[in-house]
Amino acid sequence: MRLTSSSSMTLGSGSMIWFRKGIRIHDNPALEYATRGCSNLYPLFVIDPHYMKPDPNAFSPGSSRAGLNRISFLLESLGDLDVNLKKIGSRLLVLKGDPSEVLIRCLKQWNIGKLCFEYDTDPYYQALDIKVKDYALKAGIEVFSPVSHTLFNPTDIIQKNGGKPPLSYQSFVNLAGEPPSPLATKYSSLPPVGPLGSCDISEVPTIKDLGYEDDQLEFSPFKGGESEALRRLEECMKDKTWVANFEKPKGNPSAFLKPATTILSPYLKFGCLSSRYFYQCIQDVYKSLPKHTSPPVSLLGQLLWRDFFYTAAFGTPNFDSMKDNRICKQIPWKDDDKLLEAWRDAKTGFPWIDAIMVQLRQWGWMHHLARHSVACFLTRGDLFVHWEKGRDVFERLLIDSDWAINNGNWMWLSCSSFFYQYNRIYSPTTFGKKYDPDGDYIRHFLPVLKDMPKAYIYEPWTAPPSIQTKANCIIGKDYPMPVVSHDSASKECKRKMGEAYALSKALNGLVSEDDLKNLRRKLDKGEEQGTKSKRSRQLLIG
Ligand code: FAD
Repeated sequence: MRLTSSSSMTLGSGSMIWFRKGIRIHDNPALEYATRGCSNLYPLFVIDPHYMKPDPNAFSPGSSRAGLNRISFLLESLGDLDVNLKKIGSRLLVLKGDPSEVLIRCLKQWNIGKLCFEYDTDPYYQALDIKVKDYALKAGIEVFSPVSHTLFNPTDIIQKNGGKPPLSYQSFVNLAGEPPSPLATKYSSLPPVGPLGSCDISEVPTIKDLGYEDDQLEFSPFKGGESEALRRLEECMKDKTWVANFEKPKGNPSAFLKPATTILSPYLKFGCLSSRYFYQCIQDVYKSLPKHTSPPVSLLGQLLWRDFFYTAAFGTPNFDSMKDNRICKQIPWKDDDKLLEAWRDAKTGFPWIDAIMVQLRQWGWMHHLARHSVACFLTRGDLFVHWEKGRDVFERLLIDSDWAINNGNWMWLSCSSFFYQYNRIYSPTTFGKKYDPDGDYIRHFLPVLKDMPKAYIYEPWTAPPSIQTKANCIIGKDYPMPVVSHDSASKECKRKMGEAYALSKALNGLVSEDDLKNLRRKLDKGEEQGTKSKRSRQLLIG
């Protein structure tokens, strides 16, 4: 926990708990501290139009930053928090506007002596919090901003590691030790909300209130909120053998009727579920079943992955870009919007890839290995498109979209950082088949292929015309031809990765923008020549 500032000349006897993430009552140290000795408690959430206002120009329904699935998940989470607060004599005060302006306006009007909010490592909140803290401290308001979104305090881990974040999982685990226990506080009642002055308070808005049409709603089957998070967690923990034997990456990425993992990520993202409470529940299961899997593959190990990426992200300037990011390999990715759009819009012609991208659009969630498949395909596997472009699509559409984890995993999958075996590529035709030989997952998410025989479901362009006609799916008309030949595209990608790695080695990792430009030119020339000689060979053969 971190007491950012404490002042003896605090103003009022009211406390404000400012919810951002951490949309929960259980294990919430900011809430717990806010309630101590206060006469009035103001639970606040500010709707930032920047994140919530409809953007008609975006490629999917939603705001300029977030897809509608995630916006509705957030609203459901706020609605649930409001209901739970009302049960204990309080309510959620919702305001709209620029968060720092709104907050400062409320602090001026209400008799607040203590401002409490969860510490957040994301760059957006880091910048916002400086403004708010600055105002509060000058006004003599005590600020309490504890770390409770992650198991550990990333600052502590970085300090223990001599000022740099550990960049391997094992070194992270060695430094981390055991996380603090979750708070056990239960509330039978909360201090009442005090006078509200002229602040424009509303109830939790609906999607429609925000300006969206009902029919824009997508289909995510996962409902937001702390109640649902705790219900899901309890359900998962009931199957103790499953928890004890959990072993990634053994799960089935194509399982959609009963997915192979917990699907607690969106609840962790918004803090509807405390990661420390989740950790404790897993430990309780392990106590009763001492023979269990271990990190990095165990369920507990997954939570450590989460903290690993948070720490790496917090301690690495420009973690979300290739440029000026000291842990990111400089790779001359291609700028090809057509290929990017084909991938984004599930039109690559590879059913395994397209089905995953449809699941992303509809559910806002896919299994970890499904994410591996599409991220590898977009970047170093086939299309050689920049990982930042894929990251942006995930950032928008995932309901669990998380700045640290998403960027970290995109760098991992594109072999830009953390993982460097660029010769190991996920095949877009054979990888999924191992788990789902009948192609049920593809048939579900790509109904246009539902009648394609099993023999062709992963490579429908190889089906004879008569079979395509019988399956009511003509390739090139009803479903696209593949955007690349996997064999040649993946070979080409490996060659380019090899050249980029060699350059990085030769320059001791100090690859400048000019070096990268030169390499891009050289590779483009090679590609052009390759295409020419292939064409002339074809002409000769022809
Ligand atoms: P479970 O397997 O049940 O794991 C439990 C929890 O552990 C998860 O909820 C998550 O919080 C954490 N966890 C699991 N795997 C990872 C991992 N590799 N890295 C960090 N934490 C992990 N996860 C996100 O939460 N948000 C993202 O934006 C995100 N983007 C990703 C992008 C790519 C390209 C890839 C390959 C993975 C990404 N992941 C992301 C990680 C992972 O795929 C999801 O956390 C996981 O699939 C969520 O499902 P679950 O809750 O059922 O996971």
